[in-house]
Amino acid sequence: MSNTPANTGTLYLVSTPIGNLEDITLRALRVLKEVELIAAEDTRRTRRLLRHYQISRPLISYHDHNKEARSPSLLEKLNSGESLALVSDAGTPGISDPAFYLVRLAIQHGVPVVPVPGPSALISALIVSGLPPDRFAFEGFLPAKSGRRRRKLKALAGEERTILFFESPYRLKRTLEDILEIMGDRRATVARELTKKFEEVTRGTVTQLLEHYGEKKPRGEVVIVLTGYTA
Ligand code: SAM
Repeated sequence: MSNTPANTGTLYLVSTPIGNLEDITLRALRVLKEVELIAAEDTRRTRRLLRHYQISRPLISYHDHNKEARSPSLLEKLNSGESLALVSDAGTPGISDPAFYLVRLAIQHGVPVVPVPGPSALISALIVSGLPPDRFAFEGFLPAKSGRRRRKLKALAGEERTILFFESPYRLKRTLEDILEIMGDRRATVARELTKKFEEVTRGTVTQLLEHYGEKKPRGEVVIVLTGYTA
């Protein structure tokens, strides 16, 4: 239980589009217009969004490299009654981005934290994958280093739920090769550039996906969705 001090501002976690700028809720637009300050992971990208919707509010950067230095002053503003919107690079704040650091601090200090739900690459990839979406394990980004990545995949080999990974396009082929070797030739989906002009969803076995991406070097943003283990 926590007590909220009187006159504390609210920390809004505002979801923003993962590509298509139309994917923003009416509530997100209202909150972005009403808060005193917007803390953004990528101020350039957020400025583009705000300009598109003719929203003009003060913007400050909040990202992985300054989250610890920046958080005390954001907390001070919240404590003095100012409300703040936290937006990530794209999608839902807190899903593989630095939002959690400020969320935990705000909760510890009794600041109300309010979600403004909207797009997330994770859920969009899951629902178009064609793989069972009712139970899933989200693993975020796999380790970039080969040894650690392969150990992680070994640990996940018996996972029965549908498994999702965020992945860089440069590592996609290597990760699919590791999955094939360690977890076997399962059905999988690669969801690339969702909601954008070159959206591409490729479904098949891991071998088929490797054939596809062996010929064609992928670009853009990628989610891998993998069938869980079946005996
Ligand atoms: N918080 C974000 C969300 O809720 O979608 C995710 C942030 S994470 C740092 C960025 C990763 O999400 C990318 O590397 C990619 O794996 C995935 N991603 C983001 N936008 C995407 C898109 N339009 N299509 C496919 N994957 C996307």
